[in-house]
Amino acid sequence: MRIGIDFGGTKIEGIALSPAGDVLASRRIPTPRDYAASLDAVAALVRDLEREAGGPGSVGVGIPGAVTPATGLVKNANSTWLIGRPFGRDLELALDRPVRLMNDANCFALSEAADGAAAGADSVFGVILGTGVGGGIVLGGRVHVGANSIGGEWGHDPLPWPAADELPGPPCYCGRRGCLETYLSGPGLARDHAAATGQTRTSRDIVRAAAGGDAAAVATMARYRDRLARGLAMVVNVLDPDVVVLGGGMSNVPGLAEAAQSALPAYVFSDTVVTRVVRHRHGDASGVRGAAWLWPAP
Ligand SMILES: [Zn+2]
Repeated sequence: MRIGIDFGGTKIEGIALSPAGDVLASRRIPTPRDYAASLDAVAALVRDLEREAGGPGSVGVGIPGAVTPATGLVKNANSTWLIGRPFGRDLELALDRPVRLMNDANCFALSEAADGAAAGADSVFGVILGTGVGGGIVLGGRVHVGANSIGGEWGHDPLPWPAADELPGPPCYCGRRGCLETYLSGPGLARDHAAATGQTRTSRDIVRAAAGGDAAAVATMARYRDRLARGLAMVVNVLDPDVVVLGGGMSNVPGLAEAAQSALPAYVFSDTVVTRVVRHRHGDASGVRGAAWLWPAP
């Protein structure tokens, strides 16, 4: 049995999966905003899942951050009380077994590669298009973590092939300008629409208005699709994955994956482009399912 834990900023989700990937037990608790209490909460959650599912399991944990390989310390976490802490090591002590800790975008990619929209593919790029933009890479069923634990983190690469009116690009919290995140996140879409029209609308409103034929919203969505295709083409030129899986709130825009796929050949350096771009299968459950799959079949 595999246990997956998705350690979010407001809630912790836990799941117990059978070897075939069926859900044996699942639970959700609020996230304590304190380090020691977080450790206790995860340990109690694992024990509850094991009691309900009727046996011991391997434990994988997804976090909204990364682990520095040399030290095992958490970095870049929006759950700031984890930063600089040996969360994985402390969980191993609390649970008396090995624990695998992984960035949540990597868990998303792994879940979709294991038994989701990219099942059966050898190389997968999983993309999160939400309030932020992130990504993860799975090769041969395993996450490519990378030397700096930032494999697949494309959100702070600049928008490629920029037009004159896209330079220097919007400022980003990371300190640079024109990052993909400033265009492809939900807030990025809203900012772009406001810059073009002077209207302040949420990304959800813009998507709805475009579906209803509102000309300005239709134009905003066309810019969004083209920028997504440009960003993905850059990844295809480096990694050339079999499948790109879109996740996060913006991935639910109808037809987005199909539109990105058909726009890819304009930018990819190849006469034929067979890359598949697909929407996620497991949605919000991908984080917790991917954490469980951190322990692959032996
Ligand atoms: Zn940035």
